Amino acid sequence: MSRRILFATGNEGKMKEVRMILEDLEIPVLSMKEAGLDPDIVEDGSSFEENALIKARAVAACAGPQDIVLADDSGLEIDYLNQEPGIYSARYMGEDTSYRIKNANLIERLSGVPKEQRTARFVCAIAAVLPEEENGAGEKEREFVCRGTIEGYIGWEERGSNGFGYDPIFYVDEYGCSTAELPSETKNRISHRGKALRLCKERLKELL
Ligand code: IMP
Repeated sequence: MSRRILFATGNEGKMKEVRMILEDLEIPVLSMKEAGLDPDIVEDGSSFEENALIKARAVAACAGPQDIVLADDSGLEIDYLNQEPGIYSARYMGEDTSYRIKNANLIERLSGVPKEQRTARFVCAIAAVLPEEENGAGEKEREFVCRGTIEGYIGWEERGSNGFGYDPIFYVDEYGCSTAELPSETKNRISHRGKALRLCKERLKELL
């Protein structure tokens, strides 16, 4: 079987972004569904990096011998709240709670807090597990993790309808708006995930 990249997500929006960024590697990029994989993954790491590696290793364990596996883990860190919700971003206030409620709650927890203390960032870690044979004579790494971040602050109200999750409350000074107000091409260019993916691509180019 020829070389493929498997990206450990079921999210089609992410797949579109991933395919666009990795296009010049000229290796087909498949989602879990396209690869026919559905591993049971317990994300019990204590950092974005650990969780991304847990996912990538779990998929690599059931992938083909030549498959390159990538997995991401991301979230929002708010400095004033000791980096909450962090690795629990998806699970904050319960997985099924709407982002309207989660976002309103975070704004409420920052009530009275001035702008300079409302700093926050989106973080994305992307882990890669390479096939055994890429690890020739132990010279090359078989696993690596890249991190990308975007700095911003938490606004006083939700704004915008692009994006997802915490985008409506995450504001970027450079653009003077929330990331939910940015066109998707702009957000992908400056986003944590875009940055981590581009770093990951450069590493793959060196290693493959
Ligand atoms: P995941 O690990 O990529 O599935 O993301 C975890 C959670 O972090 C998401 O469910 C969102 O709550 C939050 N998150 C990650 N990236 C973004 C983003 O770009 N915009 C808004 N929320 C995000």
